[in-house]
Amino acid sequence: MAEQISVTLPGSVKKSIPRGTKLQELADEATVAAQINGSVVDLSQTIEKDASVSFISINSKKGFEILRHSAAHVMAQAVKELFPTAKLTFGPSTDTGFYYDFDYDRPFTPQDLEMIAKRISEIIKEDLPFVRREVSKEEAIETFREMGETYKVEHLEDLADHVSLYRQGTFLDLCEGPHLPSTGRIKAFRLLSVSGTYWRGDARNQVLQRIYGTAFPDAKGLEDYLYMLEEARKRDHRKLGRELDLFSLQDEAGPGLVIYHPKGAMLRTILEDFEKREHVKRGYQIVIGPQLLRLDLWKQSGHFENYREKMYFTKVEDAEYGIKPMNCLAHMLIYKSQIRSYRDLPLRYFELGTVHRHEKSGELHGLLRVRGFTQDDAHILCRPDQLNDEICAIIDFVDDVMKVFGFEYEMELSTRPEKSIGSAEDWERATQALLQALKGKGLAFDINEGEGAFYGPKIDVKLKDALGRKWQCATIQADFAMPERFDLTYVGGDGERHRPAMLHRVILGAMERFIGVLIEHYGGAFPVWLAPVQAVLMTVTDRQIPYAEKICRHLIQKGIRVERDFRNEKLGFKIREAQLQKVPYMLVIGDREEKEGTVSPRKRSGEAMKAIRIEDFIAQVESEYPTL
Ligand SMILES: [Zn+2]
Ligand SMILES: [Zn+2]
Repeated sequence: MAEQISVTLPGSVKKSIPRGTKLQELADEATVAAQINGSVVDLSQTIEKDASVSFISINSKKGFEILRHSAAHVMAQAVKELFPTAKLTFGPSTDTGFYYDFDYDRPFTPQDLEMIAKRISEIIKEDLPFVRREVSKEEAIETFREMGETYKVEHLEDLADHVSLYRQGTFLDLCEGPHLPSTGRIKAFRLLSVSGTYWRGDARNQVLQRIYGTAFPDAKGLEDYLYMLEEARKRDHRKLGRELDLFSLQDEAGPGLVIYHPKGAMLRTILEDFEKREHVKRGYQIVIGPQLLRLDLWKQSGHFENYREKMYFTKVEDAEYGIKPMNCLAHMLIYKSQIRSYRDLPLRYFELGTVHRHEKSGELHGLLRVRGFTQDDAHILCRPDQLNDEICAIIDFVDDVMKVFGFEYEMELSTRPEKSIGSAEDWERATQALLQALKGKGLAFDINEGEGAFYGPKIDVKLKDALGRKWQCATIQADFAMPERFDLTYVGGDGERHRPAMLHRVILGAMERFIGVLIEHYGGAFPVWLAPVQAVLMTVTDRQIPYAEKICRHLIQKGIRVERDFRNEKLGFKIREAQLQKVPYMLVIGDREEKEGTVSPRKRSGEAMKAIRIEDFIAQVESEYPTL
């Protein structure tokens, strides 16, 4: 009988098992991998000595990664069988699925994808085990060289002396693992698209063909995801931006530079007015800084040293200037323009600040990633003892605003990156300030190591839209370095000079990006308070035009955003058009409405309301505004 060893299972449960027991034997059906003393391993691994063991469910984040990454191996097997001259490179999982990059002499076609998918289904049915083998680097290089897998050989050269290989059926890949126990555990998959890329992401290298796919633990998960993709396609803000005539991005003007058309500019103005009101209510002062500031100032702030690649520069009368990528500098100059007392603090400067950043052209995407954008930016200068209250107030502000738009959100704390300024002590203080505020409010959050700004750690808020997608919006950054660099001080109660703490924060983030997210979140059907056009007035015949004009003037005067449709067209046609434009209300005016001094509203959903007096309609619209 085998010697017994002791394993500690989750919940400190101890269990005695024979040495050499496979993890598989301890796992339940939903388990796809395990952890022995914290390191993730395949279920086929045996337990050789006392250890703590935990299991990874296919329904966890890590479980999804393992499932999808295993699916990438299966896809690569199918591709190699069908296209033997294709060479393997890398095949990782992603947040939503997986891909594998192949060196092949032409792009894969939709017909190819169908064949590959068919073969994948067969491999899944064969239920092939994923078998791990640990070998020396030399042996692995020899093996892949014989197979003609030159990219694997190149990659191996960067690796340590011992590597692991995985085989399912006749297919062999270099990989750390872990993987599913067998291919049969892939219950639902779909190949999605093909695109070109480069070896190691470098445009000077060989072009590769990337096949994207996704996999789920069950058919329902896959169906929901495909539905979400289809919805996202319909709601694409670039498509809706064109159809609703909100904005354009034109090559003539330059990539990543947004041109707001009247309706888009109205939407942005509504958001900006909302922001100004809410900031003033919360004790912020509105300020406005210049677009260009002297280069010397950017050197002093550390931007030149740490942020230069993203900045634009220009020369004016032999003096060098940087076009601002952030709004902090002018705000610090305002602070410095007077002697500040501890009684003056906190000072909260708010600016709808337009900035320019050089994003790579390949990374530009509609309104979501642009080169010129406006932030709802603020800098708070306060005493160190006020920091916690200020951070908490910002978190409350974010919460209020997210509720207005119907967004749920999550928080993350990002810590010191490699490229940064300031002392270790300052970073620790700043990180603690954010951490304490999050903990004090009892909020759940994730930690992103090394993802902070170059001048300080930050709290990032990710909102969740109607399709469950996450988008970065608010950030709160604590900074002790910038006040130091600009020698900002205040006179304390003791008559001495002290250093204020500084918070950089945005609530919506970049207006462009937020508008892009809003368009997709609402599918272009904005709530009444945001709709660039709130109502379209429609005449049934030309006879009602004078009355309709009078109503129109009245509505405009009352601040209702209204358009006229007095064309000599059928009413049904006018209604359909306004519905396509997603206008919240259509106000129909016929002889009866004129005689009774009313309008007959219809909602964009198609619901017809009873005829009402115009004052009642105005009250109806106003009742739909958010209260904060
Ligand atoms: Zn793998
Ligand atoms: Zn700033």
